[in-house]
Amino acid sequence: MLKKKVQTKKKLEIKKKVQTKKIQEKGKEQVKFIGQVTKIRQTEPRTVIEWPRSITHIHTYGMLSPFFNGLREGKLMATRCPNRKCPENRLWIPPRAHCPDCHTEMVWKPLPNPVIGKIYTFTQVVYAGIGVELSTPYWQVDVEIPGLATIPKSYLLHGEPYIGMKVKAEFRTKNPTNTVLDYYWVPYEKA
Ligand SMILES: [Zn+2]
Repeated sequence: MLKKKVQTKKKLEIKKKVQTKKIQEKGKEQVKFIGQVTKIRQTEPRTVIEWPRSITHIHTYGMLSPFFNGLREGKLMATRCPNRKCPENRLWIPPRAHCPDCHTEMVWKPLPNPVIGKIYTFTQVVYAGIGVELSTPYWQVDVEIPGLATIPKSYLLHGEPYIGMKVKAEFRTKNPTNTVLDYYWVPYEKA
């Protein structure tokens, strides 16, 4: 009985020693840097580093969702004011959720394909900026579409634009970007 007690005491002592050793070892563990090392861009006249960051921007198309759903299906969806007393009863693209003239909620109307328009003006884009992920340079074109109150902006997929040039709307239905870049114009006259 006494022998057993001594053995238990010894066992406890050993256990205590092991635990103490573990704690001591833990104390020697170093805090590690787990990030990505920044790149130094310059040190003179002041130090500048490159510190990469990435974010996901959550965005809703809200009441304008039918426009973007339409692009995926190869359709240009416009809005129209249903108020008969409203001075503006033409169609709007980009669409408006509410009428800018009388604030009535708009109704949706798809434009029948093919949508043929006429270039009203154009400009060459050399630097598009974030949100317009297109190879540059490209032609940004403002296109007059019959029946519209607006002259929407988009881009010419190929060719050289000129004022009055007839163009046809096409759609990126395969691998859509789910943005307004999913419709664009192509020259129509030679077709
Ligand atoms: Zn209205």
